[in-house]
Amino acid sequence: MTDPSTPSSPPPLIHQAADVLADLRELLGREWPLDEVARRLRIWVQHQRSSVVGALHVTCADEAELECREAFRRGFVRYLLPTFKFSTQAAMECTNLGSRYEWGAAGLVEDHFATARGAEREKIIVIKINAHVSVDQVDGKDRYGRMQRYDAETTYCGALQALLAGKDLPATAELAETFAMEGKPRLEALRDPRCVDQELRALYAAITSARLQARRAIIDIDDHVDKTSTMWLVVPCVSLNRRAHDSEIVVGVYSCDRRQDPEAPSVWWGLHDDPGGYQLQAEGTRLAVADSGLLRPRAARDHRSLVLETFHEHRQQALASGERLEELRDIAEEATAAHPAAARASLATLLALALEVSPIPAALVLFGQGALATYHIEKAHRLAREAGDDHVARAMLTEMQGRIDGMDAQHAQNLVRLLGQAYGA
Ligand SMILES: [Zn+2]
Repeated sequence: MTDPSTPSSPPPLIHQAADVLADLRELLGREWPLDEVARRLRIWVQHQRSSVVGALHVTCADEAELECREAFRRGFVRYLLPTFKFSTQAAMECTNLGSRYEWGAAGLVEDHFATARGAEREKIIVIKINAHVSVDQVDGKDRYGRMQRYDAETTYCGALQALLAGKDLPATAELAETFAMEGKPRLEALRDPRCVDQELRALYAAITSARLQARRAIIDIDDHVDKTSTMWLVVPCVSLNRRAHDSEIVVGVYSCDRRQDPEAPSVWWGLHDDPGGYQLQAEGTRLAVADSGLLRPRAARDHRSLVLETFHEHRQQALASGERLEELRDIAEEATAAHPAAARASLATLLALALEVSPIPAALVLFGQGALATYHIEKAHRLAREAGDDHVARAMLTEMQGRIDGMDAQHAQNLVRLLGQAYGA
C-alpha cells in the first residue's frame, strides 16, 4: 500500500538526468569565483567523455563583462573546444544589450561544431548565459546595481536598469516581452516593494533575466533537430561586478541529453522565474539565493503545447473577434475533404480568409503544432491568453503564406485539417 504522505517520485528520466547533473548541484544558487565555475563545468564535461565540445557564451555588451568572458575562455573554451585556427580555440559569442539569447543561435552553434572531427559520433554543447549586476560596499552594506565606473557612478546592468525604469529601446522592448512571458507580472513584482525588497531589485532582476534567457535557449534547442547527436547544457548565471575580482551566481542548469535518444526530454534544476520568491542568504562572505524550486529537478515544459492549451481555454474569445466565420468554416470543411494535390491551393485560400476574418485561431494552432518558428513563443503566449492582437496574428500568418509554395502536399493537407479544427469546421 502506498503511504499517502510519501511524495510521488519524479519520472525515471528526470532521475537519470538528475544523477548526471549531481556533480553540478553544489554550484546552484551560490556565488563562486568566475574561474571556479569554468573549472567545474570543464571537469563535468570531461567526465562525459564526448569527442567534441562546442560552446556559446551569451553576455551583456557592457565592458564590465570582459572579466566574465575571459574567465570562460581561459577556464573552459581553451581546454575543451576544437582548435579553430593558429592553435586557438573559440566559442561562439553573443554579446548584446542585456545578455539576450538570440533565437536561432543554438541551431547555428550546433551546425558549426557538428563539422569538427569526431562530432559525427556525438558532442556536447554548453550554452552559458550571463546576466550581470554590480555589488558595491556602501556604509558596510552590499549595494546592487550602481557602482563607480571610470570617474562617475553608473548602473550595472544599464540595459536591465533601463528596462526597470520603463525606457523604450529595441533591447528593452524585447526584454520586457521575455519578462512578461506566460502573463506573469515579473517586472511589476520587481518594481513593487511589497513583492521585492527594492535594495535587492537589481540583483533579482538579473537572476530573473538569466533564468528567462535560458528558457528561450532550451525552447530553441527543443525545436532544433541535431545534425549529429548532442548533449546540451544551458547554464544561466549572474556575474557580480565588484571593485575587486568579479564572481558569479549559478542560477541553474538545463540539460537535454539526446546522445542515446533524440526525443529525450529537457530537465531544469535551479531557481524559479518568480523574483518575488527569491531569498538572499549570506554563506560566509559569499552570497547565496534560494527559493522553493532550487533543490528539485523537473522536466522542462513544452511551450507549444502550453500555447495550444491556453488557446483552447480562450477559444471562444479568439473566434469572436472575427465575422464571416461560417464562410471560413465552409471553406475549411471543403478543403479538408479535397484531394491532397489541391492542398497547397486550399491552404493559400484558407490562410487569406483567416487573415481577413479571424487570424488569431489560425496563428495559434499553426504555432502550437510547430508550423511557425519558435521565436514567436512570447507573442504566441500573449496572443493565446489575451486573444486580442490581430496585428501580431496577421504577421505570423503572413510568414506562413510565404512558405506555401515550397511545401510538401501532405504537410499542406495536415495544416488545412488543423485550420479546419481551429475554426470548428
Ligand atoms: Zn549590461
